Amino acid sequence: MTGRAEDADSLEELRTRLRSFARARDWEQFHNPKNLAMALTGEVGELVEIFQWLTADEAGHVMEGPRAEDVENELADVFIYLLRMADVLGVDLAEATQAKLERNEDRYPVPHVRGRADRAPQT
Ligand SMILES: [Mg+2]
Repeated sequence: MTGRAEDADSLEELRTRLRSFARARDWEQFHNPKNLAMALTGEVGELVEIFQWLTADEAGHVMEGPRAEDVENELADVFIYLLRMADVLGVDLAEATQAKLERNEDRYPVPHVRGRADRAPQT
């Protein structure tokens, strides 16, 4: 099995576990795309709050400090809602990400963009 296939299996396992988590609690009724988009945004806000007043240098070392566990938890919250939203919308996140990366590789050829922040992908 290739690494990519293993990653897809791992995502599938997480997706299935999130479905079961929601189903067991009868929370599927609340997991519509609007609510999930808002929950995802809320978790991104919690992640951003950790970095809000840090300098770029402090932010670069955040995993060596007292907020490391908070960063890990908020990243997981973001990923959970992202994965759950993709599942509810019928989007294969691994496949969509691979496709997007391929488009970005075509759109931003190394010789034209290397080392240039003004040519980094905006969307
Ligand atoms: Mg959170």
